[in-house]
Amino acid sequence: MKYTNQEDHARCFALLAQHTYLSRFEDDTKGVRSLINEKKKTVKPQKGLERFLNFYVPSKSRILITRNITFNMDDAIPVFTDIAGETLENLTIPKTLTFNYTDVNIINQVTERELARAVSMSQEKQNTIRCECSSSDPFVPCYENKQCSCYKMNVQMRCLQVEKEGYEPTEFATFKPSYFSHVRNKFYNYIGFACSDSCSCAGKCTNNSMMFIDNKTFPLEVIRTDKDYGFNVVSPVLIPAGTPVIEFVGEVVSEVNLNAENVDYSYKVSYSDDEKWRLLIADAPLSDDYKQVIYDLSYHNFYIDPKKHGNIGRMIGHACIPNLEVVRIFRKSLSPAHVSLVFVALEDIFPGTILSFDYGPAFAKTLKSYCQCGTFACRNNQKSDEYSKLSCADIALAIKDIHEIKHEMFEDRVMRPIRK
Ligand SMILES: [Zn+2]
Ligand SMILES: [Zn+2]
Ligand SMILES: [Zn+2]
Repeated sequence: MKYTNQEDHARCFALLAQHTYLSRFEDDTKGVRSLINEKKKTVKPQKGLERFLNFYVPSKSRILITRNITFNMDDAIPVFTDIAGETLENLTIPKTLTFNYTDVNIINQVTERELARAVSMSQEKQNTIRCECSSSDPFVPCYENKQCSCYKMNVQMRCLQVEKEGYEPTEFATFKPSYFSHVRNKFYNYIGFACSDSCSCAGKCTNNSMMFIDNKTFPLEVIRTDKDYGFNVVSPVLIPAGTPVIEFVGEVVSEVNLNAENVDYSYKVSYSDDEKWRLLIADAPLSDDYKQVIYDLSYHNFYIDPKKHGNIGRMIGHACIPNLEVVRIFRKSLSPAHVSLVFVALEDIFPGTILSFDYGPAFAKTLKSYCQCGTFACRNNQKSDEYSKLSCADIALAIKDIHEIKHEMFEDRVMRPIRK
């Protein structure tokens, strides 16, 4: 069984290795320079990578806090506590679990009036980007259909990625995995456009990278393993590299309205200095009045703040070698209210793996003790010292070795018994 072919795997490992290598440097430019000039000779530790498999094994005495945190029967996500010594009697529900669960981003109509106006205007036909593909004759699927307005916008957004020789841009489609090609092509550049329920295809087409997420394809679990740390999200199933897994949902707020306490939890979704983005707006198939509204909004930074309203996206923990990267997928229109922040799998995620995202070097400094991510090249844990000087190529080899061990275990424990 093959989930991801060898060449694509190699790209995934190389990207994760670059990411890990560069994260040693506070200054990104210094890191990139060092990466280019790097001599390939390092001493690769021969043994012991098994220590870093990081499979999560639930405790036998786990307690179910809630059967379903989402309140949505079609998307039941259970929450467990696996903390030793905790019983139903002495169980404390931590503050981090007290938020309003929502599947969609929320906008405060009073404090974000201009944004709310953009949303209301976007419901008019001349202000929506949508396609008529499935009603056209002959029917052509949306992705790679040059007549599809949604696909055309998807390609225009792809063109905003940093172009570099030898690197193919990352594509966002329904059934094509999204492989990231270049670590310098930061999250900011990874954007795509997807068909929606406004299109004649209703988003049931080839140009909808949100489909797996909207259909709640992957069952997930929320667990608590440590009193000092928040919750974690675990995948009980295999998620192939390049798959969109979870949307990060919350309240869309402009920078002036962002509560200082919530800054660390929030993700930026728009960039006031983004000239390329303004050019894209100018060109978009939308009415001039409406374009002016989103053009004005483009001069403000907007964030998604999950503190009060959010989904399990807010529970994804940090890892120095993460298994998720976040991207922006737009639907229907181009305002900051039309973006979905989406976590995409950076490598094959095997059952029992805690989902993780790299919060960046600043995060390590906020920790009371060492980072608990448990990855072999953790930048904030002395236990990983022997790996801290590996070259980028050797990091990639170590990531590959770990993947192969995990793959074999998966074949052994899951696939072979099924085949029998
Ligand atoms: Zn479509
Ligand atoms: Zn279409
Ligand atoms: Zn469409």
